[in-house]
Amino acid sequence: MVAGQSMTNASPEPVPAMTPDRMLDALLSSPFDPVLLLDSAGNLEAYNRAAEAELGLSSAAGWPATELEGLKPVLALLRDAGEQAAATSVWQADSGRAFLVQNNRTPHGGLLISMRDITDWRQLNAAQGDIMHVVSHDLRTPLTVAKGITEMLVENYFGELTADQQTAVEKLALSIYGMVGLVDNLQNAGRFDPKTGFYKLDPAAVDVGEVARKIVETQQLPAEIQDLELTLTVDQALPIVMADRVMLESALGNLVDNAIKYSSPNTAIAVSVHSEGRSVLFSVRDQGPGIALEDQERIFQRSVRVESPGNKRVRGSGLGLYIVQSVAQRHGGEAWVESTPGDGSTFYMRIPVRAAQASR
Ligand code: ADP
Repeated sequence: MVAGQSMTNASPEPVPAMTPDRMLDALLSSPFDPVLLLDSAGNLEAYNRAAEAELGLSSAAGWPATELEGLKPVLALLRDAGEQAAATSVWQADSGRAFLVQNNRTPHGGLLISMRDITDWRQLNAAQGDIMHVVSHDLRTPLTVAKGITEMLVENYFGELTADQQTAVEKLALSIYGMVGLVDNLQNAGRFDPKTGFYKLDPAAVDVGEVARKIVETQQLPAEIQDLELTLTVDQALPIVMADRVMLESALGNLVDNAIKYSSPNTAIAVSVHSEGRSVLFSVRDQGPGIALEDQERIFQRSVRVESPGNKRVRGSGLGLYIVQSVAQRHGGEAWVESTPGDGSTFYMRIPVRAAQASR
């Protein structure tokens, strides 16, 4: 049977066409979220009950919107958001509720203001953020201890190991590195996010060569365990960059970590930091499986993972490159990849020298 076809022979009732007026009536009689319509002269043409209650409007139709006390904070917010055709801002009402305010030009030059109540969503989001923070924070301490002891075992600090023991502790070390990376990324993916992140940039004069040296040094052991050669080249005269060191370390750490995860044994990974005009350019080149052209943009999105025959066994969260891009964007820079499948990948992150001053 064709979807929607009636089982009986009775002819279906004709559905009256929805005219723009009927649609507007339906919208304005909606009991849920506040909706307001301003005409092209800026007078309040219509509003629904939710707007009446939340903004304290009473018999306000026909009044200039700028003269209505309850509407003033919303209009001020939209003004601050700019003159875009469709601007979106969050308004914290005196009632304690939070609204996502959206402003759309109508075909007749008026303005349709819709306000979505996001109070519950925000509370839920904050609670989840708190839980995530506690979990990741409490996991970090025991993991750091386990990592330290395992590294001492791998490096035969407690005495020479048999070949089997060496293989076992190296596997253990790799699992622990994976867990440490995951915990860090879970924490950073939320707070570094340029749209919703609550992490306040802490700009300071950063020696970016030093940042790269630190990351390459800490990744040397995991690289060695997987028989990879990890090298670093740093321009001699690198400028000092105004940036957030913690963020840069997290981004570069993820790029090197990925290069290690996705490379096959006995290949090389080259990290470099160059000066390029008013920016510094970090790059991480590997000889791994490479990335198909159609995936090269989307792998920077949150939680996007791409499994290819070459990397099926690599576990991950899909947060690493999202963090790299968030860090670049919050510094006014950019991140991208150049890659040919079967011929390795080079990931880039460009950071302006006076980056962090322009960001929040
Ligand atoms: P994760 O590595 O946890 O999956 P990322 O955000 O760091 O998350 O990476 C997203 C995807 O990009 C990976 O699933 C993988 O397919 C691809 N990728 C990242 N780095 C590399 C690399 N160096 N070589 C090949 N593929 C990579």
